[in-house]
Amino acid sequence: MWKWAAGGVAGGVLLFLLAQGIDLLPIVLMLALLALVLNVPALRGMSRHFAHPVKTGAVGGISFQDIGGQSSAKKEILEALDFIQDPDAVQSLGIRPLKGILLTGPPGTGKTLLAKAAAQYTGSAFIAAAGSEFIEMYAGVGAQRVRDLFARAREAAHQQDRTSAIVFIDEIEVLGGKRGQNHGHLEYDQTINQLLVEMDGLRSARDDVKVLVMAASNRADLLDEALTRPGRFDRIIRVDLPDRDARREILTLHTRNKPLAPDVDLDRIARETFGFSGAHLESLANEAAIGALRAGERTIAQAHFVEAVDKVIMGEKLDRRPSSDELRRVALHEAGHALVAEVLRPASVASITITSRGGALGYVRQAPDDDRYLHTAQELESDIAIALAGMVSEELTLGGRSTGAAQDFEQAFQRGRLLIFSGMSPLGVVSEQTLPEAELHSALTQIVRGVEERVRDVLSAHVDGLRLAADRLVESERLGGAELRALCGLAPLDAQEPQVEATTA
Ligand code: ATP
Repeated sequence: MWKWAAGGVAGGVLLFLLAQGIDLLPIVLMLALLALVLNVPALRGMSRHFAHPVKTGAVGGISFQDIGGQSSAKKEILEALDFIQDPDAVQSLGIRPLKGILLTGPPGTGKTLLAKAAAQYTGSAFIAAAGSEFIEMYAGVGAQRVRDLFARAREAAHQQDRTSAIVFIDEIEVLGGKRGQNHGHLEYDQTINQLLVEMDGLRSARDDVKVLVMAASNRADLLDEALTRPGRFDRIIRVDLPDRDARREILTLHTRNKPLAPDVDLDRIARETFGFSGAHLESLANEAAIGALRAGERTIAQAHFVEAVDKVIMGEKLDRRPSSDELRRVALHEAGHALVAEVLRPASVASITITSRGGALGYVRQAPDDDRYLHTAQELESDIAIALAGMVSEELTLGGRSTGAAQDFEQAFQRGRLLIFSGMSPLGVVSEQTLPEAELHSALTQIVRGVEERVRDVLSAHVDGLRLAADRLVESERLGGAELRALCGLAPLDAQEPQVEATTA
């Protein structure tokens, strides 16, 4: 309304000046420039560079039922939320109100979803910001933004007629890292101090809106102790990668709205996706649907999921196609890895491909029977054997090695180090800090050479199968685990395994 009134007054003044014979061009130009600054979003942002973007409001109806797995994280959060749900009971027992919940864990495991679900569950206003949004080179700006954030949380709660608000700060380690360790430390310290002040000031008598801070970090070890001490983020909840059952649940959630073909076996996909986060699984379901769309299908088949797993792990197929000599070498290399994996861990290979994806020319996907969190010496040695098998296979069949094995050695040495520092090598229990470099090197070399000899024996006994598998790979670019087992005489062909149409890279 006031805009119209101001416009009218300005128009009147202009007409008056025109009537007085004054040159209006410079004034009109200035006004146009002002209007531009106030209306172009980017320029408007410049004109108020102390304000910062904060996402507020509706949380898109995310509830705890929309989050797969994470049962212990959910349970702990629900317990903590009783502080908001039933303040009288909390007060009557003299319990100090909880101010902050810190969610820690790998990326994509559902930390943001949990915070949104907490807001939905408690009927709170939800405000989200990322730690990086508070970092500025000008002293005082970050602290001001922290103040703004809490003020906006209260404002949003008032506007939405709610009595509580949840402030969610993602990547809090950027904002709340250890004080005095940062280059622009004055500004940085002021920002954390302000956050601490805001958290301390919560729940004072003047507050008619209860504000709970939920923060997420992939690196809780970097956080200032002042933030993690009781009374601030006094609940630290681990949000881990999903186990097999949780992966199954997440896949079910993300395929709810998708037409699945009868052959789709989500249990099997859950088994083959150890190490996937919720975000990976969401992307997997989406990629499978895109695969079906590209193939002109009306439903999503198991083969689309199998293809999507490769894509999520390794990236999009590359147009680059190696020469036929190189392709054969890659096929023999990958067949080597796969064959040794099958001999040491029967029925563990899910598929082999020699399609260039991401930085790899080919790869073998293994699907262990169960998720593994502990490893015996024998298992670590098997990992080393599988890693070395590509190189040994090239040597046995082509008479020489190539640079393709460099990454495999990295993996072999990494497993070797784990074996040594877990006290499972002939060195016994040793400390990483005090073991001399030369001694470590000699122990590693000894382990790797010993395993290499065993790999040579295994592959020499299966060299015909190795060649057959490589021939088939060159033809079709991809081989299922069951097909490999049948070709190498390791097990009969399992009719249930889905075969994926080979596509040319
Ligand atoms: P980051 O640490 O990278 O910020 P995050 O842990 O906050 O990640 P979210 O943003 O919550 O992860 O999750 C990203 C997406 O992954 C979600 O939008 C959802 O599609 C999917 N997702 C992650 N975890 C789960 C889960 N447990 N159940 C269902 N979907 C999930």
